[in-house]
Amino acid sequence: MIKNKAGAPLLAIASSLLLAACATHNASVEPLAAGTSGNADESGRPGMDLGLFWVKHGAEYRALTRQTYKTATRALPGFIADKSWSALPEQQDAADLPPAVILDVDETVVSNIDFQMSFEPPFENWKLDEFSRNNPATPIDGVKDFVAAARALGVEVFFVTNRPCEPRAGDPDPCPQRRTTIDDIAETGIATDAEHVFLSEERGWTREKLTRRLHVAKTHRILMLIGDDYGDFVPCVRDKAVAPCTRAATRESRVAALDEFDEYWGNGWYILPNPMHGSWTAFD
Ligand SMILES: [Mg+2]
Repeated sequence: MIKNKAGAPLLAIASSLLLAACATHNASVEPLAAGTSGNADESGRPGMDLGLFWVKHGAEYRALTRQTYKTATRALPGFIADKSWSALPEQQDAADLPPAVILDVDETVVSNIDFQMSFEPPFENWKLDEFSRNNPATPIDGVKDFVAAARALGVEVFFVTNRPCEPRAGDPDPCPQRRTTIDDIAETGIATDAEHVFLSEERGWTREKLTRRLHVAKTHRILMLIGDDYGDFVPCVRDKAVAPCTRAATRESRVAALDEFDEYWGNGWYILPNPMHGSWTAFD
């Protein structure tokens, strides 16, 4: 689920993890540009969370997303040619199925940095829903070219997002968020439709994305998974058991999955940076 249960303490953790190597002291951080000053901390630096600041202003962040998508683009022909390949560990005997890739949406296709910098905590799905409807979507650097390259090679592109289907007052559509999500993706320059966008809390699906990956795998050979959250790749990584998972993850189990799925990282699985929100924030 797109969430920011985080709040300041967890965001601070994100900041420290990401920036420990280069900003171990506030004094080493450049002042924010004019117009972004807010509650200055004791060093005189405005009180903006560094994770948000990095995503909003860091060329480094955008270089990483471009790097990720270019790496994935270069790998497409090999995975298309190797009919024995699937990026889904659970998928077998898929040689005769047409190829597809699965992308997450938020912070993978659509950047929500402006929402993250402006919403009033706590995070609630309707707040992002409302923001998405009232603001043009900002693309993640690199995704448009990747999708174009994939489609040019005959690869179908599916989107699996944990934006949930929730009724909207006065709207007869049981999942109006699907339309909003399709519109958001279109606003990044990528046309898609309801046959390729799968939300949570519909068709019996939960926030556990494995079930939706397996749904795509019934008809397509999955060449790649691309996302910003561990749950976009690894099953059952949440702090609570979400069906079909029967047990909650732990910090240790999440780290163990790095090795368990080592062959996939950067080789069919392409993870984008997100220091703002995600399933990882529940493990404090
Ligand atoms: Mg995401």
